[in-house]
Amino acid sequence: MKLSLVVPCFNEEGSIAPFYKAVSDTFGGHDFDYEIVFVNDGSTDGTLQVLKKLIAGPVPVRIISFSRNFGKEAAMLAGLENADGEYVTIIDADLQQHPSVVLDMIERLDVNPDIDCVAAYQSKRDEDAKMSFFKSGFYKTINLITDTEFVSGASDFRTFRRPMVDSIVEMKEYFRFSKGIFSWVGFNTEYIPYTVNERVSGKSKWSFVKLFKYALDGIEAFTTRPLRIPFWLGILFIIISLPLFIAALATDRSVTAAVVYFVGGTVLVCLGILGEYLAKIYIQGKNRPVYIIKENISNR
Ligand code: UDP
Ligand code: MG
Repeated sequence: MKLSLVVPCFNEEGSIAPFYKAVSDTFGGHDFDYEIVFVNDGSTDGTLQVLKKLIAGPVPVRIISFSRNFGKEAAMLAGLENADGEYVTIIDADLQQHPSVVLDMIERLDVNPDIDCVAAYQSKRDEDAKMSFFKSGFYKTINLITDTEFVSGASDFRTFRRPMVDSIVEMKEYFRFSKGIFSWVGFNTEYIPYTVNERVSGKSKWSFVKLFKYALDGIEAFTTRPLRIPFWLGILFIIISLPLFIAALATDRSVTAAVVYFVGGTVLVCLGILGEYLAKIYIQGKNRPVYIIKENISNR
């Protein structure tokens, strides 16, 4: 068996060396082959230089370097496309997800041929109340309005069997939302709890605003139901307007101002929803690549 570790890296100069050591320590004594596929996602610090030093080391390493920052989704896709292991793991560079958990994932795949993926979810979350509220609201909403299942707290930290990886890289959409893609392709996923460690170096790249935009992308990528909102609101307004008209005629009072604001505001919201999808069709229609590789090197 061969294992590929796919590691998206954006400004991780301080994390790479401890990560590499943790991986070597964890997998060194085992009887399977492994490789590390690092994807340098347009880092502006010394990440690429630190990565290139690993080429001289004993572990088979591939370094894919993007021409600029394309985001973690693009980095994961590039990594999966360039990994050739029978088992493929996506893991962060910052050691928040410890490689020892991967051993557990591998064992579960080994003993149960019916399982195609073992995914880790955070057993206890160490985040502020606003973030917890936002995340649980997001999972409730997306599960309510899409037909794809999104498991709350499940991370991108997972190990796949080869056939599932091949299916995932078949999905060529530009606006990628992996948690949806992993679920949409089907197969059997087992979820195991894990504890998130402290970041070994540097800081998180996700702000609240960035996460909020990502959440909207996720919803738009997996359901077109919001596009039906204008239709049903239109019906609702027609129904509401009838008694208003009758009341206005009967009492000679004008309800125009309130109606104009209400209907005007709603129409703009609906146009906004249409615009969101239209913009995405427009970008996807250009057929731009999800990422651009500047350099792809390996010591194999
Ligand atoms: N990452 C990336 N491109 C980005 C942002 C993040 O490749 O634009 C990588 C990052 O280097 C790390 C992983 O994705 O290995 C997770 O990012 P981070 O630790 O910032 O997220 P968090 O753990 O805080 O959710
Ligand atoms: Mg992290």
